[in-house]
Amino acid sequence: MIQFEGVTKVYNSGGNEVRALNGIDLHVKQGEICGVIGFSGAGKSTLIRTVNLLERPSSGKIIVDNLDLTALSQKEVRQVKRKIGMVFQHFNLLNSKTVFANVAMPLLLAKASQKEIKQRVTELLSFVGLEDKANQYPDQLSGGQKQRVGIARALATQPSILLCDEATSALDPQTTGSILKLLKKINQEYNITILMITHEMSVIREVCDRVAVIEGGKIIESGSVFDVFSNP
Ligand code: ADP
Ligand code: ADP
Repeated sequence: MIQFEGVTKVYNSGGNEVRALNGIDLHVKQGEICGVIGFSGAGKSTLIRTVNLLERPSSGKIIVDNLDLTALSQKEVRQVKRKIGMVFQHFNLLNSKTVFANVAMPLLLAKASQKEIKQRVTELLSFVGLEDKANQYPDQLSGGQKQRVGIARALATQPSILLCDEATSALDPQTTGSILKLLKKINQEYNITILMITHEMSVIREVCDRVAVIEGGKIIESGSVFDVFSNP
């Protein structure tokens, strides 16, 4: 689970203060798919970057599985990073490395043995349906296939949380559907909690259990997808 308690983030940009997050309170329950939707500039990326430890909140707390992310030792930072997988809009694959090597990267960083890496990467590629692409390079793949590699990489260290940053925004509608199905399967089969940010209502409707609407760095509404989006 992920719990945001009064999280603020103030950037200092050329002498000006930008309040990207302004008192975020949000509880993402274990095993659910929670969507955060909002327009450009609302604070979505900043929100996800605070969970991924790429950005430190200016104030407030973020609790992940009983650990406060704002007060971690160096050792805990490494542990938490392994528990959190990240899927990007533009995939962030290394083009000079094969599909296999891309998926193996987090395992190498975690100092897994060659045997473990071989076994885990093979299993992951089969899970995402790319067992026959292991030796290809990202340039040889379609957008949907690249995102499957990105998802396999995000799952490599067996995270309990998957963060998706506009994971389908660069894909056509049909490919989007198949990637969303894959994310749902990951959520159901592995009981992984998913926090998904998007500007697309259709994505939220398709897979999310709950949704929070973010505007000006604040959650202005949250609840079940049905409650938030059904018109009275
Ligand atoms: P979204 O992902 O919803 O588009 P962001 O989290 O990227 O929103 O941005 C929220 C606000 O914070 C925007 O006003 C943006 O310009 C500002 N912002 C984001 N990153 C930085 C940064 N590194 N430095 C200064 N301002 C930033
Ligand atoms: P750098 O940290 O200098 O960008 P890396 O080789 O660590 O170099 O990463 C290169 C690219 O791969 C980056 O775009 C990064 O976002 C992505 N990347 C690396 N490791 C991971 C990971 N475990 N999960 C997701 N993306 C990763």
